[in-house]
This record gives sequence, structure tokens and C-alpha cells, in this order.
Amino acid sequence: MIPVRGYDGHTVGVLGLGRSGLVAARALRSGGANVIAWDDNEAGRAAAADEGFALADLTRDKGWEGLEMVTLIVSPGIPHLYPAPHAAVTQALNRGVVIDNDIGLFFRSFATEDWEQMDVPPRVVCITGSNGKSTTTALLHHCLQQAGVRTQMAGNIGRGVLDLEPGRDGEVVVLELSSYQTEVARALAPDIAVFLNLSPDHLDRHGGIGGYFAAKARLFTQGGPERSVIGVDGPEGRMLAATMREDADNGDPVIRIANSVQIKTGWSVFARKGFLSEWRRGRQVASIDLRAMASLPGAHNHQNACAAYAVLRALGLAPRQIEPGLASYPGLAHRSQLLRVIGDVAYVNDSKATNADAAEKALLAFSKVRWILGGRAKEGGIESLTPLFGRVAKAYLIGEAAEAFAATLGAVPHQICGTMEAAVAAAAAEAEPGDTVLLAPACASFDQYPSFEARGEDFAARVAAL
Ligand code: ADP
Repeated sequence: MIPVRGYDGHTVGVLGLGRSGLVAARALRSGGANVIAWDDNEAGRAAAADEGFALADLTRDKGWEGLEMVTLIVSPGIPHLYPAPHAAVTQALNRGVVIDNDIGLFFRSFATEDWEQMDVPPRVVCITGSNGKSTTTALLHHCLQQAGVRTQMAGNIGRGVLDLEPGRDGEVVVLELSSYQTEVARALAPDIAVFLNLSPDHLDRHGGIGGYFAAKARLFTQGGPERSVIGVDGPEGRMLAATMREDADNGDPVIRIANSVQIKTGWSVFARKGFLSEWRRGRQVASIDLRAMASLPGAHNHQNACAAYAVLRALGLAPRQIEPGLASYPGLAHRSQLLRVIGDVAYVNDSKATNADAAEKALLAFSKVRWILGGRAKEGGIESLTPLFGRVAKAYLIGEAAEAFAATLGAVPHQICGTMEAAVAAAAAEAEPGDTVLLAPACASFDQYPSFEARGEDFAARVAAL
């Protein structure tokens, strides 16, 4: 654990008592803060009470009576501004209480005096973007391990950042950060920051696409990283790269990465026809064949490979130290995960494709798809995927979005199945050799499941039972 510094003897509120909230409460307490906890959910409150944290209903005036709270730590799942602030956040804002989150606390607390004795003080890499964050984070962490570099991984990928061990000599900490996390953190100080891509998502929470981009860009504008790795396939990334500071001493503060264009100016890493190329100042420095890397299928994963590679180069690793890590990456569950092949029909779990952009990438990776999709639709639904409907042998619709998606699919063969059980049964019964049965929902899972993981596990269990 990283004890939180700077709050000894002060009262700090923790709103939201899920995984990261409880970790934050513990880390604050170990740094000497007086923690007041709240969650609307009874289970969260019980978990905090079990650990001896004081509870107060911060949504009401009464809960604030007698409290001299300096800061309220807000969990990423809790709206702080749009579509409307949570009642406890409104209370804090009205009382002039500072809002922060566990990421802000981490950056205040991670560096310690003993770093001065270290040969190479710990470095922190932060990864953000709409899609590919977890893959890039896990891939980078794996490559560092393979190259014999000390490393720890946390953030949106599942471990609360304050749950990390204190930094060690030569270590690299890899953090996956969502837009919710970068938007609120009061301190952001990555050594290397990565922006992968931007596509519409979580727009209700950010007041639109501009707010969403601004939340992610904060990692760069507020963070002032030594080195930035920026995906320039889209206009937002190009703009971000163009507005980063120039720094003559450090040379090439931005590494541009791409999978749709070749960039041969400055420092760049791009993927083309399955090959990764690194260029610096007009010369090719390295090239790696990505085509046989089984856990990195498709152009989208090649973008993730470019990002991880660029960070590793910025950290000083040689290309030959990086390639074995890329090749041996085992992949993550629920992301382009090949579950089984039965009679030449592949079953692929991409439950993490929770928006149309991610589902597009999954569809592009296969040629004849029996597509299981649906759930709670995101803005725009699957309209943007119409150019790919030619790859769909048939769509099997589940969840709330089924009717609306059926209308968008139009003449594409489709069936409203309702449940995963019915969808897998129908797809398996109709699949022909060479087909891929692909779960790429293009939707959130919350209408039928507690999480995308639970949805992917349900799919995997049904496939295992075939
Ligand atoms: P995140 O953590 O950003 O949600 P993941 O690595 O978990 O990203 O991947 C989420 C989904 O997005 C995957 O199911 C995959 O289909 C798709 N995806 C992965 N990498 C990319 C990328 N670089 N660009 C677009 N889509 C991607």
C-alpha cells in the first residue's frame, strides 16, 4: 500500500466504497487521515464499517454536521458534474470542499525521500484512450517483465493505484486511466503519457465529446509528461500531438503512433500490413513482424503494440529486448479471446466491445461472422457499423437494444434472441465451417449483467457447454 501523505490529522471523505474507494480509505488512514466514508449502496457501507471506518450520509446536511472535511475523494463511477452531480458531490461543492480521487492522492504520495538514494527512481506510465487501454497496459507490463524490468500495474485495469507497493529502484509503474479518473485527479504527473484514440463514449458523463476529449487531454496538459506517445489516426490525437510543448533538450518529446498512415518525421512508430516500423528523424530504426502474434490480432491490436513498443523505447529498451515480449503476450479475457474451435467454427469472446467503435474493430478482424450483440445501447447505436454488415452472416440480438438494432440491421439476416443462452444456441446450430461466432455487443452490459466480465463469462460457459 502507498500511505497517503499530506492529510495527517485532517478529515477526508471517501465517496463510493467499491474496490478503489476502500483501498483509498485504507491508504488515507495509514497516512494518518480521519476518514469519513459513504456509499449509497448498503453493501459498500457494510464493507467499510467492517474495517472500522466511520460512516456519514454525505448526501444530506445532517451528515456534514460537525465535520471539517478538507477533501472529498470521489470514485470513478460516481457522476461529479454531468448528467448531474451526485448529491454528496453537490454538498461538497456548496461547502467549498476540494474534490479529488485516488489517482490524485497517488501522485501526491508516491515519490518519497529515499528515491534520492536510488540509481533510477521509479517511473510512472499512464495510458488513456477510448479503446485498447487495458490491452496496452497489460501488454506493456508483460513486455517489461519479459525484459527483466521491475514493474507493477494498476488503475482502471482492476487494482486500486494506492494498493501498489512503494516504488523500487528501476521500477516502472503502468497505470490504466479512464476519462473519469483523469478528469477529477488534482495531481497528474506521469513520466510517460499515452493517448491511444478517441471515439464517442460516456458522453452523458462528460457533457459531450468535447468534454470527453478534454478529460483525457488533461493527462497531457496538466501532467506535463517527459515523453508523450500519441495515436494520430484520428483528429483529436493529431491535435493533441501538435499542441504538445517543444523541448529541444529532451529531443522529440512526442512519439506519434498510427495504424492508418505512415509518419516518417520526428519520432514515430506505425503498423502497416502487419509490420511495426519505428522511424526517427527520417530513418527507419527497427521493424517487427506482428502477423504471427496470436494474442494481438487485427489492426487495432497492432495500434496497441505500437503504443507499448513506443513506451518501451522511450524507457530505453532496445527493439530486440521488446520483440520477445510482444510475441509471448498471453492476451486478456473478454478481448478478442478465442475460446474454442468446434468443427472449424471459432468462438470469440469480445465482451469488452462495449461501444460501436470497439465492435467495429472486432468485426474487421474476421471475415464471416455470426454476431451476438445487444445490451444497453450507447449513443448512435450501431449506425456507424453499416459498412461492415457484409461480413455478418447473421446477427443474434440480446438485451434492451434488440429491437432498435434489428431496425438498423434491416436486410441483414437477424434474429431477436433475448438472452445469451438463446443466442449461443441459435448461432451454434446455424454456424457453417469457417464462420466465427463473435460476441461483440457494441453495448453496455448493465441491462442483463453486473459487468462486461459477467457477460463474457456467461458466453464462455454457454460455449463450453456446446
Ligand atoms: P479499454 O480498456 O480501453 O476498454 P481494451 O483493451 O479492454 O480497451 O479493449 C476493449 C475493446 O476495444 C476490445 O474488445 C477490442 O475489440 C477493442 N480494441 C482494443 N484495442 C483497440 C484499439 N486500439 N482501437 C480500437 N478498438 C480497440
